[in-house]
Amino acid sequence: MVEKVDVVVIGMGPGGEAAATELAQAGLSVIGIESRLVGGECPYYGCIPSKMMVRAANALAEAGRVSSLAGEVDITTDFAPVATRIRDEATDNWNDQVAVDRFEQAGGRFIRGTAVVTGPKTVRVGDLEIEVGTAIVLNTGTDPAVPPIPGLAGTPFWTNREAIAVTEAPSSLIVLGGGAIGLEMAQAFARFGTKVHVLEALERLMPLEEPESSQLVANVLASEGLGIHTGTAARNVSYASNTFTVTSDNETFSADHLLVATGRRSDFAGLGLAAVGIDTTSRTLDTDANLQIADGVYAIGDITGKGAFTHMSMYQARIVANHILGKQGPAAEYHAVPRVTFTDPEVGSVGLTEQQARDQGLTVGVAMSQIPESSRGWLHKAGNEGLIKLVADTDKGILVGATSIGPAGGEVLSMLTLAVHERTPVNRLREMIYAYPTFHRAVEDALGRLP
Ligand SMILES: Cc1cc2nc3c(=O)[nH]c(=O)nc-3n(C[C@H](O)[C@H](O)[C@H](O)COP(=O)(O)OP(=O)(O)OC[C@H]3O[C@@H](n4cnc5c(N)ncnc54)[C@H](O)[C@@H]3O)c2cc1C
Repeated sequence: MVEKVDVVVIGMGPGGEAAATELAQAGLSVIGIESRLVGGECPYYGCIPSKMMVRAANALAEAGRVSSLAGEVDITTDFAPVATRIRDEATDNWNDQVAVDRFEQAGGRFIRGTAVVTGPKTVRVGDLEIEVGTAIVLNTGTDPAVPPIPGLAGTPFWTNREAIAVTEAPSSLIVLGGGAIGLEMAQAFARFGTKVHVLEALERLMPLEEPESSQLVANVLASEGLGIHTGTAARNVSYASNTFTVTSDNETFSADHLLVATGRRSDFAGLGLAAVGIDTTSRTLDTDANLQIADGVYAIGDITGKGAFTHMSMYQARIVANHILGKQGPAAEYHAVPRVTFTDPEVGSVGLTEQQARDQGLTVGVAMSQIPESSRGWLHKAGNEGLIKLVADTDKGILVGATSIGPAGGEVLSMLTLAVHERTPVNRLREMIYAYPTFHRAVEDALGRLP
């Protein structure tokens, strides 16, 4: 069977779904192909259900803080409401019919299946050959990467996909990987009473963030009773009598469950990208300013390596849809990419870290302000851990990066994202009025400390 169409979207993660819908609404003939669930990782296994876990866990932590502020609260934890919300409100029990209907109502044609690119203008899914008139859009995302640790394969370990679907908090859990996904779940489960050990092979948690962020989060998690083991590579895994045993060079850890959160992977060879001249061994795809990897072949989301975030996928979808529709629009810019790790405290950051700025040869000025020393942090008291770190290009007098950690670290980040995005002069930021007593007044304090 051969079918002709204007656009094929392969993989309907957040960006693929958005682009496919917009192009269909604009009157193009669009086929959207998804092997799993329309909407991708974020609504079914990622951002949304994990943040429901975090929200509930934070409510428990906040209740625990009452004793230092307002009396006593008896807390009995119950994971059932979280599991119910994830099934009923977030994932529709991992059913994407609503999303499929929405796309079809927008005028698109949906195909469930695994697509392969067979040439610059051809795609195959099952026994259907598709000839593409205008564009192929790739939004195939990432799968959990499982490291080749002896003994791990074949054990009933979890990735984020299984961990999201649990109906009760495990009594004990080993988390492999101290990045955003591992830490959010580690802290959330621990607040439901799970005994958690986090093993990170590198010397610090959250290695892509500022070292100060790693240290602060490690201290908070350790103070909550999690075992934080950095510089600890898992060398062997075994599973017997319903117990995982993980050995590192010096220690042995045991738990009922094991969560592997050691990164993400893509399969460009399986996607057939050799057919459009792509080196399929690369980890991410090189894109031009309009997100093309070859003439008429676009990439969106995690596979572009510009930040594995839903907001990146949506941002790129807008650019791709504009370009395909011939609309004028800005090209992609990546100097102010915001990201938030939803631990408590939240770790928000944007742009360059201090080290990245130095590696780029910039003349760097940095300044920090501690949230507990700000008026709002001080009066907030329990749960007030946090800091602001600013990274400035002192030649240009602008911020090129910033970190905002605190009870509302991700929200405070918004003003810093705007400053980095707009390249607002530091002197102009210093002239601004900051409401008292807010967490974001610590930004004003840090600005005052910049050289
Ligand atoms: C636990 C967890 C928490 C997260 N929390 C956040 C958060 O708080 N904020 C945030 O911004 N991001 C978060 N992320 C990341 C976020 O989920 C992704 O960045 C987001 O889903 C965007 O990914 P994407 O657009 O690349 O595609 P994905 O969401 O990965 O979707 C790609 C889709 O393509 C399909 N597909 C792949 N190959 C084929 C093929 N050959 N044919 C057909 N279909 C195919 C897949 O089945 C999949 O559904 C989280 C991720 C995880 C795992």
